[in-house]
Amino acid sequence: MPYSYEAPVSQTLFDRAAAVTPGGVNSPVRAFRAVGGTPRFMVSGAGPYLTDADGREYVDLVCSWGPMILGHSHPEVTAAVQAAVARGTSFGTPGEGEVALAEEIVARVGPVEQVRLVSSGTEATMSAIRLARGFTGRAKVIKFAGCYHGHVDALLAAAGSGVATFGLPDTPGVTGAQAGETVVLPYNDLEAVREAFAAHPGEIACVITEASPGNMGVVPPLPGFNAGLKQLCADNGALYISDEVMTGFRVSKAGWYGLDGVEPDLMTFGKVMGGGFPAAAFGGRADIMARLAPAGPVYQAGTLSGNPVATAAGVAQLRLLDDAAYEKVDAASARLRALVTEALAKEGVAHRVQAAGNMFSVFFTTDEVTNYEKARAQEAFRFTAFFHSMLSQGVYLPPSAFESWFVSTAHDERALERVAVALPGAARAAAEAAE
Ligand code: PLP
Repeated sequence: MPYSYEAPVSQTLFDRAAAVTPGGVNSPVRAFRAVGGTPRFMVSGAGPYLTDADGREYVDLVCSWGPMILGHSHPEVTAAVQAAVARGTSFGTPGEGEVALAEEIVARVGPVEQVRLVSSGTEATMSAIRLARGFTGRAKVIKFAGCYHGHVDALLAAAGSGVATFGLPDTPGVTGAQAGETVVLPYNDLEAVREAFAAHPGEIACVITEASPGNMGVVPPLPGFNAGLKQLCADNGALYISDEVMTGFRVSKAGWYGLDGVEPDLMTFGKVMGGGFPAAAFGGRADIMARLAPAGPVYQAGTLSGNPVATAAGVAQLRLLDDAAYEKVDAASARLRALVTEALAKEGVAHRVQAAGNMFSVFFTTDEVTNYEKARAQEAFRFTAFFHSMLSQGVYLPPSAFESWFVSTAHDERALERVAVALPGAARAAAEAAE
């Protein structure tokens, strides 16, 4: 297998994993299928670095897919977690930590008057949609091709041809009935949304969108898109759900809402708010949240929801995220974007670096990428060569051309310099790559 010779211990672990776990991983993208080679089994992380089972250190530009915005093993987050663990790890009762985390969220994000804690982003979007349906008494949901909202059955539907249509099951196990209530539309196309509302009068419960998509690569909303969605929802009695699982508390103190100011009816959060632990949330208008059990009839629950260790980590991380922290992350992101552009331009590689706040990704195309169809039209094979060159030089990128890169407050000059040193070789590899 190509590349596997570079990581013999990881390869041995992967073989063991494959015997007991489907595909050897617990979340598909970790398996490196898009880029080939041996997934690196990480054993520790410190600041901007990860160390794998073969003892190699990498500059980490994935940050656990977003959560580790203060870098790995931040001393204050670690201390908060250790103190919480020492007090007991789960009580199955209310606890102060979950109140504190809810208060931190409500204080930061204006449209969130009340919030319910859950354990994953998937649970958050699944519950928000149930609540929207319960609140409106309607069944249909509009989502956009290329937006990912976790592996909720109804939200795995994506438009095969990119045109406005009823989604068909994209994966075995999702029934036609589950997907049939989902209307999948092209991203950044308000006219398609207008037409869908006209085609289904009184039937659409909600529009759910990533606040700024990062799951088809980084594809920000065009000016006025989110505001237009909000208006169309309001005009048609539907709820506007902004999924900030990725952007929330990452691109600003108040997430994407802090940058564009469009007020959703409901919002979902995860990643950063859990400080590296399984904690997520959904929240929004108090009159809608009041429909949730036990205050209202829409059922939602979780044995480990508001877990004291996870909430301690989340509270510690959020409290450390002051203006200076975001300035640091933004500056590291800007510097990296400039370095990547410089290296690829020097080798004459057609590319676009697209950013949304401090999230960014590289598309191997010169056309502006505004939706999933355009994202897929890039020369993704160049990313494979680029990725493996960076990996072999000790830089860990997301193992897919369709994912955001993430940095942290810990990405200092030394870490960025290591990336700068690796980039010319990776750019050359991208230039020389053949399909
Ligand atoms: N929503 C968005 C925007 C995401 O990026 C993700 C995960 O990447 C999810 C929802 C699902 O979150 P989780 O993986 O915690 O279930």
